[in-house]
Amino acid sequence: MDTNVNNSEERKLNFLEEIIEKDLADGKFKSILTRFPPEPNGYLHLGHAKSICLNFGLAQKYGGKTNLRFDDTNPVKEDTEYVDSIKEDIHWLGFDWEAERYASDYFDQLYEWAEKMIKEGLAYVDDQTQEEISEGRGTVQTPGKESPWRNRSVEENLKLFREMRDGKYADGEKVLRAKIDMAHPNMMFRDPIMYRIKHASHHRTGDKWCIYPMYDYTHGQCDSIENITHSICTLEFDVHRPLYDWFINTLGIFPSHQYEFARLNLTYTVMSKRKLLELVQKGLVSGWDDPRMPTLCGVRRRGYTPESLKMFADKIGVAKREQLIDLQLLEWCVRQDLNERSNRYMVVSDPLKVTITNWEKGKVEWFNAPLNPADPEGPCRKVPFTGELYIDRADFMEDAPAKYFRLKPGGEVRLKYTYIAKCEEVIKDAAGNVVELKCTIDPSTKPGAGEWRSVKGTIHWVSIEHAKELELRIYDKLFTEPEMGNIPEDKDYKDFLNPQSLVLGKGYAEPALLEDQSGIAVQFERVGYFFKDPDSTPDHPVYNKTTALKDSFKF
Ligand code: ATP
Ligand code: MG
Repeated sequence: MDTNVNNSEERKLNFLEEIIEKDLADGKFKSILTRFPPEPNGYLHLGHAKSICLNFGLAQKYGGKTNLRFDDTNPVKEDTEYVDSIKEDIHWLGFDWEAERYASDYFDQLYEWAEKMIKEGLAYVDDQTQEEISEGRGTVQTPGKESPWRNRSVEENLKLFREMRDGKYADGEKVLRAKIDMAHPNMMFRDPIMYRIKHASHHRTGDKWCIYPMYDYTHGQCDSIENITHSICTLEFDVHRPLYDWFINTLGIFPSHQYEFARLNLTYTVMSKRKLLELVQKGLVSGWDDPRMPTLCGVRRRGYTPESLKMFADKIGVAKREQLIDLQLLEWCVRQDLNERSNRYMVVSDPLKVTITNWEKGKVEWFNAPLNPADPEGPCRKVPFTGELYIDRADFMEDAPAKYFRLKPGGEVRLKYTYIAKCEEVIKDAAGNVVELKCTIDPSTKPGAGEWRSVKGTIHWVSIEHAKELELRIYDKLFTEPEMGNIPEDKDYKDFLNPQSLVLGKGYAEPALLEDQSGIAVQFERVGYFFKDPDSTPDHPVYNKTTALKDSFKF
């Protein structure tokens, strides 16, 4: 696990910043242009957030710009639903792109370049099956075998390629390949496929095309067309870089360059879109935005803030080696941000009734309580106090040790923001369960009423008459295994789903909670951070647990 994260205010330049600063100093580029290139085949996840913060963040830092380019070369898996969600998520993170582009915008240009390569003897139509092609590639140790169709004439290749485009052939019947070197030590150069036939409607180009370009023939050229100066991608693409350069050099177009960084992996998390899609399709989660999902719409619904995700991206920095980051670091960032900004409310989740015996029946007294203790002079909410309260069962102990400072028989505790109460009597049912506490309050301990008397314990409470009932959705990790990238071969990632990842509960809230206008998660005092769920109705508010108040995690 990588604990070597950024913990100082002043950090060194990362390797990408070093490269960019040098390029700008050398006058290689006047300004930089980066791009974020999602494939619209799923919703964005926390790994993408890392890439977004990096691409947009670098451009912001150096006065450059960032394009959003949808890598939409696979019509079968792509959809405008995903396009829309991706744009929404990037905006939510607080970034805006210079131009919105699609690889499919460049299909005509790519096609033209393919014909050019055919005319220069650099590409040919191959009739082999997919299996024959893979077999013919050879292995790292052994050279590949040339296709029997490799030496077709330029005229024949042109005619066949145009027929492919015009829909004369079925899927898989033919491909266009670059003619490079079947014995090349880098397998990527063994006549890579440039185009495949796919009779499928595309979310943007409709039925105009039935041939679609492959990733390696597309990505570099798209970067080049847009004059992208620094094309940043994840480490697994480093083997593709020579080919990226080869197409650009062969076509003699703008020299975009690719740089690789380590993808983000998180403990207890899977982040591949294929797996996330499977969880959704099999109904193992409630949808892409299930608050347990590592998708951006999921963590948003959970109550994570863009600020906390940016803080996290900054703390983990940019590595050149694979890294597995502790999920607790992300939660630490969320807590850090919410601690500063969130409003506070009292909510009791496991209620125990307290009757104040020296309280005038029916009397309601309203107390001012700061919405955020970091700003004691700031805005307040009004909290009603009455003679019948709920406290959390966990804040009472009958046979308490001396050092127990919450409520115990004969003991005193401060009811937060209000009086000191003393437990005078414990009421039990026939089975011996504690069902009610009879308490008295000391009127002289009202805040602001004379001398301040302090007791060791302070607990939260709500007035029963005013309490609003809430549905609470308490989340835990979606998986039980920290290293989900490293599970035994004979197991499936779904074998590690955590059966306790969602537990439903109830809460009783002070009334001001339901008037909260902050738009971010709130703190249930002494309990944790919670965010209102869109399933809420006026009669049935639902709150998602964002994260606990504290963790043993030391950062
Ligand atoms: P997945 O493997 O999860 O399906 P992907 O890489 O296929 O993701 P793309 O839509 O192609 O998803 O990714 C868009 C950009 O986000 C790419 O530049 C990719 O390198 C980057 N990216 C994807 N996953 C991560 C990750 N875990 N950490 C950092 N960057 C990532
Ligand atoms: Mg991809």
